[in-house]
Amino acid sequence: MSDKSIQDELKDAIRTIPDYPKEGILFRDISTLLGDARAFRRAVDALVQPWAGSKVDQIAGIEARGFILGGAVAHQLSGGFVPIRKKGKLPYETVRIAYSLEYGIDEMEMHKDAIKPGDKVIVVDDLIATGGTAEAACKLLQSMGADIVAACFIVDLPELGGRSKLEALNVPVRTLVAFD
Ligand code: AMP
Repeated sequence: MSDKSIQDELKDAIRTIPDYPKEGILFRDISTLLGDARAFRRAVDALVQPWAGSKVDQIAGIEARGFILGGAVAHQLSGGFVPIRKKGKLPYETVRIAYSLEYGIDEMEMHKDAIKPGDKVIVVDDLIATGGTAEAACKLLQSMGADIVAACFIVDLPELGGRSKLEALNVPVRTLVAFD
């Protein structure tokens, strides 16, 4: 099947919920894609396709939907999995980074021994919007010496310009479908 048909299939599998979590937001809900066995498999296969057969040390998944996809990607690429979590959730010593949200500031963290300098890492989340979340995750990983091979998302919201934030960090971006 062509790329176009994969895109159409994945887009059709994603549910859009207007005005969630607040008015004016079109929430792209990938839980319906995850619940569709064929679409889930195709999405994971398509995400990892450029790195099939190459060595990737760690997959870093961003809480929470990045954990689901990242675990599947790690399995496919025979890599480890590193959770990047909201502050206060990880049990061991952490490194932490603050980042801006629409209203205010939040922090994310990872275990301080999760990455070895020079590790080849792929960052995974479900969706990139403004790119602020993934940018913070990439900066945190790079501060620990990670060599970030790519950041992968099922969904891009290109009008919000997230891709360029990651490219400014020399992180290539892979996305499968775009919504206006
Ligand atoms: P951003 O930091 O603006 O790129 O936002 C990305 C994060 O927020 C991801 O973890 C997404 O899961 C979530 N997110 C942002 N906008 C949406 C949206 N329209 N639909 C679903 N998830 C979203």
